[in-house]
Amino acid sequence: MKISLTQKYNVPGPRYTSYPTVPYWNESDFTDQKWIASFQKAFLESNSQNGISLYIHLPFCESMCTFCGCNKRITKNHSVEETYINAVLKEWDLYCQLLPEKPIIKEIHLGGGTPTFFSIQNLEFLINGILSKANKADNYEFSFEGHPNNTTYEHLKKLYDLGFRRVSFGVQDYAEKVQKAIHRIQPFHNVAKVTFWAKEIGYTSIGHDIIFGLPFQTIENVIDTIEKTNSLKPDRLAFYSYAHVPWIKGNGQRGFNDENLPKDAEKRKLYETGKQMLSKNGYHEIGMDHFALASDSLYKATTNKELHRNFMGYSASKTQLMIGLGVSSISDSWYSFAQNTKSIEEYYQLLEENKLPVVKGHILNDEDLIIRKHILNLTCEFETSWNNELYFKEIPAVLEHLKEIEKDQLITVEENKIKITAAGRPFVRNICMAFDLHLKRKSPETNLFSMTV
Ligand code: SF4
Repeated sequence: MKISLTQKYNVPGPRYTSYPTVPYWNESDFTDQKWIASFQKAFLESNSQNGISLYIHLPFCESMCTFCGCNKRITKNHSVEETYINAVLKEWDLYCQLLPEKPIIKEIHLGGGTPTFFSIQNLEFLINGILSKANKADNYEFSFEGHPNNTTYEHLKKLYDLGFRRVSFGVQDYAEKVQKAIHRIQPFHNVAKVTFWAKEIGYTSIGHDIIFGLPFQTIENVIDTIEKTNSLKPDRLAFYSYAHVPWIKGNGQRGFNDENLPKDAEKRKLYETGKQMLSKNGYHEIGMDHFALASDSLYKATTNKELHRNFMGYSASKTQLMIGLGVSSISDSWYSFAQNTKSIEEYYQLLEENKLPVVKGHILNDEDLIIRKHILNLTCEFETSWNNELYFKEIPAVLEHLKEIEKDQLITVEENKIKITAAGRPFVRNICMAFDLHLKRKSPETNLFSMTV
């Protein structure tokens, strides 16, 4: 029996929001001192030219969505807000003390958890506290993730007044059966309301996140969700595959059974149907799983070959240093990664002791830096090439690994270059895996990754 490409290439694999991927970080070689030296170097290279970026993780949510893979704390107790904001500001203060000059902020992204769990006053206190120790870059970009059920007009207005121009709303799927299974009841009119408000206030980029492969999701559900989405015309969309990894995420992903999930060809059809509809509606495919209108900065970054990918997904601008503040946040200095503790209690404790709450990280060696660039090229531009700078001695072995993929016409190979074909785009993660020497040298002992297709 002939197997389809989807069946052939649907294996567990990383999403490549970093290289090396987190399970392959060499923690024994990582120390606080090395991290401090690394971000100071990156700061000096980045600050005056492009500024720096901040990712701020706001972990609280009022209720648990069972598809969620984020680090969050479920509570209805809003008295947690102030302590947490003060801790984030303390962390920022510790960083600022270690920086040789006043930071220039190019980007702030508030992620979660649910940033709109926090009151307007507390969010304002947070942003003003951050900016009191920094200057804003001329072309700064501030963005946040809003929950359609609890984002108020006042949230949107206040954050706009503070300089935010981009907001993304988690939609997932509009079908009631799917929403019940993922424990996220969120009627269309809630999404329509916040999208309309954001447009009215003047946000220049409104995003919706849609997921395919959710429990009980059918083709009809995807068609209906995309039709409703199109009626609101967000500027950009993330349309990504549900990552089912309950063995890692624990109870958060146990609200349904494996057999409730669409699989293989059926799941791929959900994506292909959605993608065709999006392109008919004027959305351009950006990197993996993202779509944008031609007027959105993500599309412009793609055409200018300036698209970047980091822990938050795709970004239209790149600074060399991204500092992650808040519990579980990951910082990136290009030369190294550092992750904060995932425990809120330990986060508070370390800050109390005037220590950065970083608990693990990875210093990239020369080989890592070359491969990181190739993986970014593939995920952002669907091609990569090697000159002296980007050649490494494993290239022949990489090409050997890619032979089967080439035979299946998912890539074309030229002298110093590979290009991913249109048919190969759904298999980008598999193609990146050919370059991933950490993965090749040592397969994970347990299954750490979601399926690639
Ligand atoms: S999906 Fe968002 S709102 Fe739901 S539990 Fe996860 S972080 Fe919280």
